[in-house]
Amino acid sequence: MALAFISNSIAFSSSSSSRAEQVVQLNSTSFQPSDRCHLVSPAVLKLSPKRSRSVKALNAESRRSGSIVPSAAITCAPDVMEKPVEVEDFEQLAKDLENSSPLEIMDKALEKYGNEIAIAFSGAEDVALIEYAHLTGRPFRVFSLDTGRLNPETYKFFDAVEKHYNIRIEYMFPDSVEVQALVRTKGLFSFYEDGHQECCRVRKVRPLRRALKGLRAWITGQRKDQSPGTRSQVPVVQVDPVFEGLDGGSGSLVKWNPVANVAGNDIWNFLRTMDVPINSLHAQGYVSIGCEPCTRAVLPGQHEREGRWWWEDAKAKECGLHKGNIKEETVNGNESDTLHANGSVSDIFNSSDILNLTRPGMENLLKMEDRKDPWIVVLYAPWCQFCQAMEASYVEFAEKLGGSGVKVGKFRADGDEKAFAQQELQLGSFPTILFFPKHSSRPIKYSSEKRDVDSLTAFVSALR
Ligand code: SF4
Repeated sequence: MALAFISNSIAFSSSSSSRAEQVVQLNSTSFQPSDRCHLVSPAVLKLSPKRSRSVKALNAESRRSGSIVPSAAITCAPDVMEKPVEVEDFEQLAKDLENSSPLEIMDKALEKYGNEIAIAFSGAEDVALIEYAHLTGRPFRVFSLDTGRLNPETYKFFDAVEKHYNIRIEYMFPDSVEVQALVRTKGLFSFYEDGHQECCRVRKVRPLRRALKGLRAWITGQRKDQSPGTRSQVPVVQVDPVFEGLDGGSGSLVKWNPVANVAGNDIWNFLRTMDVPINSLHAQGYVSIGCEPCTRAVLPGQHEREGRWWWEDAKAKECGLHKGNIKEETVNGNESDTLHANGSVSDIFNSSDILNLTRPGMENLLKMEDRKDPWIVVLYAPWCQFCQAMEASYVEFAEKLGGSGVKVGKFRADGDEKAFAQQELQLGSFPTILFFPKHSSRPIKYSSEKRDVDSLTAFVSALR
């Protein structure tokens, strides 16, 4: 079976060798299924003149034998001339572009990669990327992951964007066999029970991986202010640390983040100024938008990432899509890049206002039913970037509480202490903050991801 896009008398064949004989024709006004194609349902396909140029298949994954889903969301496309391998210093390029506007960065990206780059569109305010691409006047491509769990508002928004820009979004769908296996085994809402990683892997990461295998570069809406812990180092361009591109292997894909340095407010000012369509969920308090069961509105003052996977701990607050932002914990529990040359790692939370608790100290604290003073204790690992990120505020918080009667402590809970901390101290991830009330043996876990001085102070004031 093959796709039949009848248009402009251009005959295309899929670039995938397994589909080499799947010849398609493209027409700017109509799209017809032929007896050689079952990959895309019949629909009218309109392409803008700009986009009627050669397009490489987003999905370059070869057909899997035995699957009833040969390869979802294929956009059949012509072969593209082989280019010589380009060796470029992307760190230097990122430095050169650090002060460039998003429009300049977008223009550079599209100029450099032509139809081998595509914008990843989530259906939220990253519509700004599409507007910037549109403003360059260059042809551009957009793809999106349809997880099957999006809000109806998001689907309507996709449609509005397609109409506004006269484009077709290249949707990527999960493998139905994998979704079926997951849902039949674990139910529709397994992510509330055992975390979002597995479902995201099936519905998002694998389709994304397939999409990227057909590209040499992609464009994301990642911003430094979206997740202070994990995205504070996002460069405007980088060799993708996680995914592979067309040529395969590490370093084969480049990731462009044109709005890395733009604040959320400025994105919204831009969208308003340019009268760009927006997802109606934003008017209901949604900031970050993803799948319906895993996204919620946030209150004024709450960080946008608190609207995603709110039932999980902060460390897991990345979908795997931009996993390179999180330094993986190695087998021995340390992050290799924070280790000193001699294998040691500097301690953190060093302040005379913070008491360093040992294992017996913690055991004592747990045993007491009638403490002289309440305690607040951070369970930490010095190599953990989230602990490092809250160090300054915790030190200031301890200083502020000096003389208040509340004791502030720290307990290093990695390595040999990890199992104890997991069993006895509710340690799920680092950092975990516990309040030990004066008249109760049971510690109360601080569940917010806001670890600034005011939030910690409010927590203690509410419980002491
Ligand atoms: Fe599944 Fe939620 Fe991830 Fe969507 S965001 S893929 S529903 S876990």
